[in-house]
Amino acid sequence: MDSNRLKNCAICGKLFLKVHTDHCLECYKKIEEEFELVNGFLKIEDNRLTTLEEVKKATGVSAKRLTEFIRDGRIFAGDYPNLGYPCNRCGKLIKRQILCNSCFDEFATDVNRVLKSEQLAESMGKKTESHKQRGYWHIKNSK
Ligand SMILES: [Zn+2]
Ligand SMILES: [Zn+2]
Repeated sequence: MDSNRLKNCAICGKLFLKVHTDHCLECYKKIEEEFELVNGFLKIEDNRLTTLEEVKKATGVSAKRLTEFIRDGRIFAGDYPNLGYPCNRCGKLIKRQILCNSCFDEFATDVNRVLKSEQLAESMGKKTESHKQRGYWHIKNSK
């Protein structure tokens, strides 16, 4: 009994045997069906200028799932000028990652700042650590 491989489906919550995905076979099948629907819709020449909202209406597939298809690269949004999903921060239409370029730049700056202050805290932490060790050795050696 390998309980490590039993996992709750990330979508429906049902317990399943984890092999490759985070969701159970039923959800996997449903996603594949949705993908086929979307893929079929996008293959139609007239739909080249479609938007996410239009695909959602035409196929009944949720915006969240469509976003996942684009983000995972299963749907190549680069071929569809108006197809994309909103930037997590400013809502601008994007086709990859979760932030648009300008938000990503700001985000990267923020992360750098946080990292620097964490590194600073860490190096200060190390100093106190080595200080303690010196104290320890000092006591030990003087015995
Ligand atoms: Zn499921
Ligand atoms: Zn943005």
